[in-house]
Amino acid sequence: MLSPNIVNISYLFAAVLFIIGLKGLAHPRTAVNGNRLAALGMIVAIVVTLLSGKFEWQYIIIGVVIGTVIGTITALKVKMTAMPEMVGLFNGFGGAASVLVAGSALVAAMQHIATGEASSQMKIATVASGIIGSVTFFGSYVAFGKLAEFLAVRWKLYTWQKIIKYGFSLLVIAGAAWFGVASIETSGLPLSIGLIASGLLIGLLLMSRKDRFPGMDIVKVLSGLVAVALGVLVVMNPENTMLFWVMVGAAGVLGVILTLSIGGADMPVVIALLNSYSGLAAAATGFVINNNVLIIAGSLVGASGVILTKIMCKAMNRSLTNVLFGTMGPTSDTPDADDVYAGKVKATSAEEIAMLFDGVRRVAIVPGYGMAVAQAQHAVRDLATQLEQRGIQVDYAIHPVAGRMPGHMNVLLAEANVEYDKLKEMDEINPTMEQVDIAIVIGANDVVNPVARTDPNSPIAGMPIIDVDKARTVIVIKRSLSPGFAGIPNPLFANDNTLMFFNDGKKAILDIISAIKES
Ligand code: NDP
Repeated sequence: MLSPNIVNISYLFAAVLFIIGLKGLAHPRTAVNGNRLAALGMIVAIVVTLLSGKFEWQYIIIGVVIGTVIGTITALKVKMTAMPEMVGLFNGFGGAASVLVAGSALVAAMQHIATGEASSQMKIATVASGIIGSVTFFGSYVAFGKLAEFLAVRWKLYTWQKIIKYGFSLLVIAGAAWFGVASIETSGLPLSIGLIASGLLIGLLLMSRKDRFPGMDIVKVLSGLVAVALGVLVVMNPENTMLFWVMVGAAGVLGVILTLSIGGADMPVVIALLNSYSGLAAAATGFVINNNVLIIAGSLVGASGVILTKIMCKAMNRSLTNVLFGTMGPTSDTPDADDVYAGKVKATSAEEIAMLFDGVRRVAIVPGYGMAVAQAQHAVRDLATQLEQRGIQVDYAIHPVAGRMPGHMNVLLAEANVEYDKLKEMDEINPTMEQVDIAIVIGANDVVNPVARTDPNSPIAGMPIIDVDKARTVIVIKRSLSPGFAGIPNPLFANDNTLMFFNDGKKAILDIISAIKES
């Protein structure tokens, strides 16, 4: 078994690898190596921890096998468009792991508690890990459900969606009821009722078809206060482990309600925030079990999540408080789609578009979620190459929240080998948009919706957008006039200088390429 000195030096080495890896992730050219270095750091951390001689191997091996099988199958099978949901869900597992490690450390510490040897650090960290981990787990589950469109929606669900939605809700209710009833004798009636009530509330909230209800903010604040109050009681009476589980239940209610109420275009902020929480929970767990590398890795995830949250808030022009307590999504003031579009939308064809490129000098391609759905990135790159061969300058205008996860468009375009210096951030391309002859919007909607600029009552009011409406001609490729994630109509589609090409994103681009070749 390794000596504590070797373990700590190896942890330091792993931490350095994490930091260099993170630095590498900041740029696409160095990202792959950065990822490898960070993964190597994680392998060092895991191997050294296992060789430190504190564990029973058989349970760890069972866990590793189950986790590896589930992780590998899911990662290999997941469709590119379902990536955001998967990332959201896996993020939640980090939170759940923190809760379980902190809970079991508390149970294991019972002997030290009896002799008064449990440190304050351990008790406070256990509470932090339990609260943040539970908020992360339930919040991430809600984010997953919203991205996969089965939570808090009024429309009819597919069978698989119903199975996950109601199955998980019932599991939470049944689990809390079973644990609560089984613990009445040891923990007393009030705590058992508390646990059952929190499980019931979580389950019912998860079954709800609405994302907002009157008094929601009060429940948010109350569940947060109850969780913190129970946390104080856990620190004062750590021997009563049931207090810990009721605290986890109250934090779970907070996690569900905090994420459930956030809709419309604000989801990117929540995803970044939950990501940060999972790191903080892991760092707290590091303090519980006195593991330095877990503290460092958790802090790195927590800090980078906070930075990402800040970037996302800036991209949406919203404060964090506004995201957590404001409303988003269609409101009673949202105009009717018929009023916005009736008689004003002009449809076009691939042949007509091909002719428009004659004499054009500058084209901007604006990708959105629909490009990911259509998997059109390679076709888009081919179209750009063809236009460039005609001497046309082609740039890609990237909105920070386009798609369904931070950096979504960058990842897809990098996969299609688009050179990175052709991707222009919103702030860089917007001032030059008037010199763009043709803006091709492929599968983007909310990120090019001018109501964000013009209508202060709009649910996306104030969100900076890519100003495609200022280009000379706008071609929008999408299948119909359906709204985007924020659920509101887009007057861009009815503008005088806009032509709609109703088609699947990939097919549309391939048709345009053929039409250009034939013209
Ligand atoms: P939107 O969700 O606003 O719009 C996407 C559009 O793509 C839809 O209107 C849809 O129209 C079209 N589309 C779907 N499938 C296809 C297809 N096969 N071919 C062509 N078009 C298709 O996307 P944006 O990228 O503009 O905006 C992202 C939104 O998602 C923002 O509101 C953002 O806040 C939110 N969000 C972003 C996250 C992030 O981290 N980036 C995370 C969570 C949410 P149609 O059905 O008519 O084809």
